[in-house]
Amino acid sequence: MLGLWLIVLMLILGRVLRLPWTVTLGMVCALWLGILALHLVAPGGAAAESIGGNAAGWLVLGAFAALVLGYRRLLGRLRSRAVAAPQPALRPDPGLSEAEIERYSRHLVLHQVGGPGQMQLRGARVLVIGAGGLGSPLCLYLAAAGVGHITLADDDTVTLSNLQRQVIFRDDLRGEPKAYAAAEAMLKLNPHLDVTPLIRRITEADTDLIAGHDLVIEGTDSFAGRAAINRACVAAGVPLIWGAIGQWEGQVTLFDPARGGPCMACLFPQAPERDAPCAEAGVIGALPGVIGSIMALEAIKHLTGAGQGLRGRMMLFDGLYGESRMISTARNPDCPVCGGKSALAPGAARS
Ligand SMILES: [Zn+2]
Repeated sequence: MLGLWLIVLMLILGRVLRLPWTVTLGMVCALWLGILALHLVAPGGAAAESIGGNAAGWLVLGAFAALVLGYRRLLGRLRSRAVAAPQPALRPDPGLSEAEIERYSRHLVLHQVGGPGQMQLRGARVLVIGAGGLGSPLCLYLAAAGVGHITLADDDTVTLSNLQRQVIFRDDLRGEPKAYAAAEAMLKLNPHLDVTPLIRRITEADTDLIAGHDLVIEGTDSFAGRAAINRACVAAGVPLIWGAIGQWEGQVTLFDPARGGPCMACLFPQAPERDAPCAEAGVIGALPGVIGSIMALEAIKHLTGAGQGLRGRMMLFDGLYGESRMISTARNPDCPVCGGKSALAPGAARS
């Protein structure tokens, strides 16, 4: 079948020489017509024999090729028409849905939040580390407030002794991973959110994970773990809202050395002599509710730009005597973690 080989060769040549498809097709058509004419004029001759086939066979082949080409052309036309069809006008800003407007109506009337602030909350990416006592009110209030993307990391499971203060869990969830149980509670409270539970500890190696968030909020109870999270936040340049509780007292602050504030190591360069977790020292039930709620409030302020945050300040709360006070905090220029990394002068950035 020399004729077929000639056609294949012509197609390959057209591709190699990058000839326009119409030129290649024209050459193939001319060849096909020549072969057909040869078979019609001198059927059975030496030339027709060397080319191969017969007139009927080449006619069928031509008809089949024409059918395939016609079908391709039809598809191309349909596609171009589909592309050219008028598109529905896209809304320039999807904004808040009717359900969201009703849900967040108490935010929307606050002039410090309003629609723009609510949209900032919806677009925010927050990493919450620890779904325990502080994490319980924190997660619920972040979810209720409409913080759009929440990653929640905790490697623990729900136990009976948690339920005295970790109000995001229920008795029937004992044994469940806290990250999953808390994520489920958040989504049941507000289905408009994107919640990612992580059943693991956050370590110093998680700089990339932290860098993917606008804010980290941390309420764990091991000094070594907190120091590692602080180092990762400083390396990623992401602010860290930090809360701590013990017995009847709690503290809240914002660590943000990239914008002039101190980091945790500026204030606590070394582990305290008595670093007793809640399991040993005890903690009164409603205290994490107070401190975790303040952390959620500071997070909402930070994300919306409302009011004055806790950069360079630490709030101290004494539940036993019903007292609270504020102390100033400052960067340590010799801090081994953040020393020399401040990007802005103190007070230059919003809290
Ligand atoms: Zn520091």
